[in-house]
Amino acid sequence: MNRFQSVRGFNDILPPDTALWQHLHAVAARTFAAYGYGEIRLPLLEHTALFARSIGEVTDIVEKEMFTFQDREGDSLTLRPEGTASTVRAGLEHGLLHNQQQRLWYAGPMFRHERPQAGRYRQFHQLGAEAYGMAGPDIDVEIIALSARLMRNLGIGGLKLELNSLGSAAARAAYRAALVAFLERHAASLDADSQRRLHTNPLRVLDSKSPQTQAILRDAPTLLDALDAESRAHFEALQQGLSDLGIAYTLNPRLVRGLDYYGRTVFEWTTDRLGAQGTVCAGGRYDGLVEQLGGSPTPAVGWASGVERLLLLMKAQGIAAPDSAVHAYVCTLGEAAQRAAVRLAEQLRDRFPALRLIVNAGGGKLAAQLKRADRSGARLALILGDDEVAAGGVQVKSLRAGTAGPTESPSGQQETLPWTELPRRLAGLLDA
Ligand code: ATP
Ligand code: MG
Repeated sequence: MNRFQSVRGFNDILPPDTALWQHLHAVAARTFAAYGYGEIRLPLLEHTALFARSIGEVTDIVEKEMFTFQDREGDSLTLRPEGTASTVRAGLEHGLLHNQQQRLWYAGPMFRHERPQAGRYRQFHQLGAEAYGMAGPDIDVEIIALSARLMRNLGIGGLKLELNSLGSAAARAAYRAALVAFLERHAASLDADSQRRLHTNPLRVLDSKSPQTQAILRDAPTLLDALDAESRAHFEALQQGLSDLGIAYTLNPRLVRGLDYYGRTVFEWTTDRLGAQGTVCAGGRYDGLVEQLGGSPTPAVGWASGVERLLLLMKAQGIAAPDSAVHAYVCTLGEAAQRAAVRLAEQLRDRFPALRLIVNAGGGKLAAQLKRADRSGARLALILGDDEVAAGGVQVKSLRAGTAGPTESPSGQQETLPWTELPRRLAGLLDA
């Protein structure tokens, strides 16, 4: 029989990789807490209309990337492709947004039907932050500073912060008209995607990856020239706030986002180390979305970061998870020893909650058990035979040089300790 394989673009995440994932999530939770953001957990499935209405009918995500299906009742449901629409939906549903301020974060899988490649998957994971009820540039500064601190806390360096302002809806409409007029004069030379977007979503043409289109765009009118006075003041205050905090940025007048709900501030953290998948965090202001989804007008700003891309960068930069290997592996010889070992291990786990301990299961000769102990990554093997049990002792064998505890002992060194000495010995291991 053919064996099953995972669905294309849907990946298993295995140990020891999961240790780095856990580390990233622990650092992220700590960083969000440092700014008073509360975690929101959202369902993976939503009504399709939520995304069509918020992200926009003519965006790539809604046009061709969503996993959409009919359930047994005939309702059209979609695996969430991003977290912002669901956050607003939940905020409205539970009365979190009306006349108040909210700082929220989320983490979890998102789904987009894209061509899988390094840094681009069909199930991928995002960390995101969203702030509601604050209209001024101060919260834009805060939420960007939070993303900067997250990168720093993860140890990721060499990222570039790119900034732009999309202006007010009116300024954007005027700019859109000017851009379309310009692009129409060059329509024949644009790449096929851009020709298609010229009338459906012309701002997205700015984002084209085609070198020929980019060459044409060099002479195009820019959004920054079209900014309304209020958006300009907001944008300047944001830049001042970032400078005050020593956060470097580059202005990129071509930066647009693939989601329709953004206005004014947009930003991306980018790297040149991940090829075409170089954006590791992206976000901006979306003051119109809450009202568009049925709430009262509520200013909002947020970002989302791709976890797989952060992890790829961390690996490329040699950043490892804190050691998560087991500390000790208990080998047993004989039935009485096995029972005693299980009891002893439980006592040790009671006493040292951070201790990572494996008790051999499934029997085997001592040599075979020691091989398992070595493969587990344990630093110590604790060997219990019926003789040791009778005498209340345990043999302690160091499996890795220099990691056996307070006294550096070469790998292979072995000694017999009374059980009463064991806690002291293991405590030394935990400190190391
Ligand atoms: P891209 O231009 O790379 O397709 P996007 O503009 O579609 O990105 P957003 O919707 O802004 O991305 O999502 C925020 C972040 O989520 C991205 O910057 C990226 O780090 C990550 N991301 C988006 N799509 C994927 C994917 N298919 N696989 C892995 N990570 C992704
Ligand atoms: Mg995309």
